Amino acid sequence: MFSVYSVAHALILAAPALAPTPGTRLRATITHMRLITFQRDAHPEPGVLNGDDVVSLRGAGFHDLLSVLAGGADALDRVQRWLYDPPWSQIVKAADVKLRAPLQRPPKIICIGLNYRAHARESKMELPEVPTIFAKFPTAAIGCGEPIVLPRNSTKPDYEAELAFVIGQRGRHIPAERWRDYVFGYMNFNDVSARDFQLRTSQWTIGKTFDTFAPMGPAIVTADEVPDPHSLDIGTTINGEVLQQSNTNDLIFKIPELIAHLSSVFTLEPGDVIATGTPSGVGFARTPPRWLKPGDEVVIRVEGLGDLRNPVIAEE
Ligand code: ZN
Repeated sequence: MFSVYSVAHALILAAPALAPTPGTRLRATITHMRLITFQRDAHPEPGVLNGDDVVSLRGAGFHDLLSVLAGGADALDRVQRWLYDPPWSQIVKAADVKLRAPLQRPPKIICIGLNYRAHARESKMELPEVPTIFAKFPTAAIGCGEPIVLPRNSTKPDYEAELAFVIGQRGRHIPAERWRDYVFGYMNFNDVSARDFQLRTSQWTIGKTFDTFAPMGPAIVTADEVPDPHSLDIGTTINGEVLQQSNTNDLIFKIPELIAHLSSVFTLEPGDVIATGTPSGVGFARTPPRWLKPGDEVVIRVEGLGDLRNPVIAEE
């Protein structure tokens, strides 16, 4: 328990003392946190991962993690005050709880297709001149440790390691150069895909949004822990075998452009999850193809964001 106090204390001492100005207040307030949703009884609750411990944020008045993100700077101030000296009853061992998707129902899950050069080539598609956008529905979201359920009606289930970013501030027509003001944090993301459904028509969403096809987490790592999201190693291993291995420096459309492009069409809101695309090495482009199968364990790892680990089971 000493560690919770001392780490939280160190974080508060490290908090920027500059007076916040409008638009930059969110960024100035975040201080190095790994935010999770976990379950120790009947209901999921929001928390902060701190080494081997979890500090629940329920006692600080937060029903879920989305309310922390949507609450802006005031909510983050409250979280930090809470972490300074949380009651014993609100501290649990991480090993004793189940992780859930950090955001149980993200307002939007937006995915970018063909956003790594080598993946566009292996897919035998032209390099895109504008970002390819599709969606997953909130019902697809699962967390670290929860099973990916292979649908009965697909024979071509596949994996895709991705870096996702999470929006922390509402905005429309956001200039590319202000992107950092809108990114709350980052997560590992697995864009699980049923290739037969995806490629049967020109619209991909139907093959991308089966229940459980949006594993994310284990935590939202706040943006200040990731100085440059465009130079992170990214990869997939299944049952220990390395299948994808790349770096986010190969992204075609980077986060500033994506935020400007998306927000030129619709409002970005706190809790929106944007998955930036996958590098080469996916199952359908292999010879022979490497489809997901029951009994697999898929691990997605983006540098600095922990391991997103999901077992694979068949739909009953
Ligand atoms: Zn993808």
